Amino acid sequence: MFRNLLSVASLCLFASVVIGCGRQSVNESVPPSITKPQTATEEHASKETSMSDQVVKTDEEWRKQLTPEAYRVLREKGTERAFTGKYHDFKGTGVYVCAACGNPLFKSDTKFKSGTGWPSFWEPIAKKNVEEESDRSFGMVRTEVLCSRCGSHLGHVFDDGPQPTGLRYCINSVALDFKEASSEKAESAGKAEEPEDEK
Ligand SMILES: [Zn+2]
Repeated sequence: MFRNLLSVASLCLFASVVIGCGRQSVNESVPPSITKPQTATEEHASKETSMSDQVVKTDEEWRKQLTPEAYRVLREKGTERAFTGKYHDFKGTGVYVCAACGNPLFKSDTKFKSGTGWPSFWEPIAKKNVEEESDRSFGMVRTEVLCSRCGSHLGHVFDDGPQPTGLRYCINSVALDFKEASSEKAESAGKAEEPEDEK
């Protein structure tokens, strides 16, 4: 009887160890399955914040968004015909942004008359807003200018521009959208004009 009890007890002990082990292994497998989605969302979130400045779209999405001419220039590195663009002889005060993603690219006060038939600027709004790449197409060595946010082709930069930079950013009109100066800027411009009104 005592032997039986002992064997039952040892059996119980054995069983509890096995169950315990079983539980333990279940416990071990549960936390990773809980934490995994968490890290996945964290990764997703951090990816979104780090990528928030970049615009990445498929060719099909760009085709839907852009006109055929804009697509040809921006996404296929085309060039619009000289003197045909909307901004080569445009003199508005404001900011030119990327026609594909709205990234601010050039200020109107850095635009100059180059006579080339394309809008020309001597400086981008910020160096980080444009990317420059060597372009050896058509048997020429040129420096291509791209939008740093969406990678769209904008035009080329040459070193025969006016001072203070000596650069000429030769940009396709179709790659640009013009945003007129904000009311705040218009106000300060208005203030500057006030003395003239008083005369
Ligand atoms: Zn862009």
